[in-house]
Amino acid sequence: MVEEHFDVVVVGSGPAGSVTAIVLARGGARVALVDKAAFPRDKACGDAIGPRAVAVLDDLGLTPAGERAPLGDMVVVGPSGRRLRLPCFDGIDYPGYGYAIPRLGFDAWLVDEALGAGATAVTGRVQEIDVGAGPHVIELDGGRRLRADVVIGADGATSRVADAAGLVDARRVLWGFAVRAYLDEPVALPHIVLWQREPGRVFPGYGWLFPGPDGRANAGLGIGTLSDRRAGAGAVRLLPDFLEHLRRMGLVDKPGDGSGPGRLGGWLKMGMVGTTPAAGRVLLTGDAAGLVNPLQGEGIAHAMTSGRLAAEAVLAGPGTAAARYRAGIARQHLEYHRVAAAAHATLVGRPGVAAVVGKLLTHPLVGRPLAGGWSVFWNELLEGTPPGTPRTVAAAASVIGRAVTRRSASARWFDRVWPTT
Ligand SMILES: Cc1cc2nc3c(=O)[nH]c(=O)nc-3n(C[C@H](O)[C@H](O)[C@H](O)COP(=O)(O)OP(=O)(O)OC[C@H]3O[C@@H](n4cnc5c(N)ncnc54)[C@H](O)[C@@H]3O)c2cc1C
Repeated sequence: MVEEHFDVVVVGSGPAGSVTAIVLARGGARVALVDKAAFPRDKACGDAIGPRAVAVLDDLGLTPAGERAPLGDMVVVGPSGRRLRLPCFDGIDYPGYGYAIPRLGFDAWLVDEALGAGATAVTGRVQEIDVGAGPHVIELDGGRRLRADVVIGADGATSRVADAAGLVDARRVLWGFAVRAYLDEPVALPHIVLWQREPGRVFPGYGWLFPGPDGRANAGLGIGTLSDRRAGAGAVRLLPDFLEHLRRMGLVDKPGDGSGPGRLGGWLKMGMVGTTPAAGRVLLTGDAAGLVNPLQGEGIAHAMTSGRLAAEAVLAGPGTAAARYRAGIARQHLEYHRVAAAAHATLVGRPGVAAVVGKLLTHPLVGRPLAGGWSVFWNELLEGTPPGTPRTVAAAASVIGRAVTRRSASARWFDRVWPTT
């Protein structure tokens, strides 16, 4: 079979892969953008494109096509049903809003932007990668082969590229599984729901109810499974109960049981733990790199920022791209994920503690004064937040979190894999 040669083969055309390909192609690289799916394809998601993702799109001069709903303040519903509004406000380098855009159209639009910038679309499932000393050889199903000086793994949480390059220690990964359903009724504000299914114990994850641009709502349930992926099925099994919980709280009228055609689930790989983001001439971006925020499940912004970083690192010199990229990821994400990964592992493993923390933080006497800082901290916005009370609260949470979690298992992993930080 003929081998086609590219400077870079990007595996996966989600937000990570498309942004990587856009920046590389604009920089003059010959790029193949490979995906096993033909686009448009759906992707399990809450469809919330956060402020940092909007900032990346703005920086790249990209305006999403199609319908979108603005997202601003978010409501957190605590284990005892108390509601706390978390404010969304302008940062130094991010806007005070996000968008709700269904992934079916959003991802297809971004792929079109990548192709418009000059990337070559290849449809096929990557099966093997030979990461030898010369050009890497990428084998697709059907026998097609590509050769590339650099391979970027943007192929999602269960990345084949990460496995083939030996960059994942699956026993250490913080896995999550989440399932989404579309509801035929409008919702005004996004809600995150901490669900107390049994007295004193919070579901090990959270549910959401987000507005959509089309009069529909996006509702779902995500479960943290730590390193044991067998527990992931719990999210699908309990989705009908969770939708009924939303109805009982008066958040929706007729949610049904979520079993309609829009139901879709997917894995999340969170908190960076267990994945080395780059080695040699293989770089991982987005979910493949395990960048999903372990406290609130956001990953689109991280996919885009890491895609851009990876592309810039390759354009600056393929031979040293891995080191440059790792330094960039460390600068942007390491401090936060050190703390957030340990907090996630603690709370998922201890539903009683999670219930106490959730009740405390959503109690008006505690939650209201902390709401701005909470919003900044758990949305990983500390670096771009201007001076003021929210920044002070978020910075304090970061310092305290680092001190409290310094002996955790994930902190030990970070110390081993990122020894210079
Ligand atoms: C139910 C759910 C709800 C979520 N809600 C939100 C939310 O509201 N907001 C948010 O920011 N994040 C959310 N996330 C996380 C978000 O979806 C991901 O972080 C984001 O999609 C990561 O983008 P990516 O490009 O890294 O990977 P993906 O979007 O997963 O793209 C990976 C691509 O790789 C392709 N691929 C995989 N394997 C191969 C292969 N072997 N060969 C070729 N192609 C391959 C796939 O077909 C896919 O197109 C949610 C996740 C889930 C599961």
